[in-house]
Amino acid sequence: MQDFDAIVIGAGAAGLFCAGVAAQRGLSVLLIDHSAKLAEKIRISGGGRCNFTNRELDPATPQQHFIGQNPHFCRSALARYTPGDFIELVRRHGIPHHEKHKGQLFCDRSAEDIIEMLVAECGGGASGGSVLRWMACAVKAVRHSDAGYEVDTDNGLARARQLVVATGALSIPKIGATDFGFRLAKQFGLRLVEPRPGLVPLTFDGAGWAPFAGLAGLALPVRVSTGSGKARTAFLEDLLFTHRGLSGPAILQISSYWQEGTPIAVDLAPGTDLAGLLAQAKQSGSRKKAINELTAWMPSRLAEAWSANDPALQRPIVEAPDKALSSLAQRIARWELTPNGSEGYRKAEVTVGGVDTRDLSSQTMEARAQPGLFFIGEVVDVTGWLGGYNFQWAWASAHACGQALQPA
Ligand code: FAD
Repeated sequence: MQDFDAIVIGAGAAGLFCAGVAAQRGLSVLLIDHSAKLAEKIRISGGGRCNFTNRELDPATPQQHFIGQNPHFCRSALARYTPGDFIELVRRHGIPHHEKHKGQLFCDRSAEDIIEMLVAECGGGASGGSVLRWMACAVKAVRHSDAGYEVDTDNGLARARQLVVATGALSIPKIGATDFGFRLAKQFGLRLVEPRPGLVPLTFDGAGWAPFAGLAGLALPVRVSTGSGKARTAFLEDLLFTHRGLSGPAILQISSYWQEGTPIAVDLAPGTDLAGLLAQAKQSGSRKKAINELTAWMPSRLAEAWSANDPALQRPIVEAPDKALSSLAQRIARWELTPNGSEGYRKAEVTVGGVDTRDLSSQTMEARAQPGLFFIGEVVDVTGWLGGYNFQWAWASAHACGQALQPA
């Protein structure tokens, strides 16, 4: 049996960072991961360049960029460890980076830089702390007694008074995602918010999608929305047609809010008064067909798909009935469609839902009714928007926990 101040299970974004924070405070930490490769999700993130945070994150209004049963839960941790703090760390390690649109920060070279930085942070410095890594090492069982948490692994038994669960959630099983964190939460009596895939492409039934399948590869800026009343959510981003449905940032964002069986609405020409423009073209006596007028404002393949089925639109626009023109403008501005599902955890960048935040302290991430047991990162019911928000939650929750861990 080997004893440590803390055991962290999961050497991904949150687990690695938490282990480093604790080691720099002088703690001895055991970091366990069943995967042979370190932090594979960081490696593939942001197209290989890791969108590691977002400057637009405002901890005072977390509901703007985070989803969860209690969107205010993440406020304290996000306020105590901000995007500015992480950017400062990245600077200190001399990692070249740049800002893309909407406050998103990426590495110039590769996501490897972030992994190397997190490993270096696990060094412990002059504090006397340390991080021992056990990889690839499966956890067979976790028991709790007066002596602390005993973790039974491929490498033998390890024990600590504090156990941190940083095993992420269900997205991308191919690179090691498991439901371990959810099972452990249940074992110790914590509640779960039903998980579902988030930031994921949406799919449509084969026959219904057939007319659009030929548009695969086409990308354009749209406004997409879902929900009703106060719960209506909208994004102005790029949409991508695929063979099975819709993807691109607009769809990934809305997918985290979409409820099964409900429609999404897409404005394919946001900010353009198509009805007015078509009416104007008719008034001016244009002899172009509607499709040719439309190509001034949208991709021609799309214009064709939306006007081809109406015989009234196959004549010069000056001869087209007003009703056909206004109906065309309306179909483009409000394309309403109901997905039959999503590409699932195989393609989802995150999992919405997870360990119920009512059972965790928002200050430390410790389970309220199970002293010494902590949950951090994606396993918790806190899901960020696309754009670096999920990593910032991983860093902030890991920091809150790493600061709260105590030497034995
Ligand atoms: P993870 O990073 O998933 O780490 C969990 C670790 O636990 C893994 O190492 C896993 O091997 C280990 N583990 C799991 N089960 C067990 C078990 N039973 N025993 C032992 N170990 C176990 N977010 C952003 O903010 N910006 C981006 O650019 C971005 N890009 C992404 C791109 C893709 C393709 C994907 C899939 C996600 C992306 N995300 C991005 C989301 C981000 O990667 C996650 O939110 C983040 O990694 C969560 O951190 P975590 O530490 O909680 O979990």
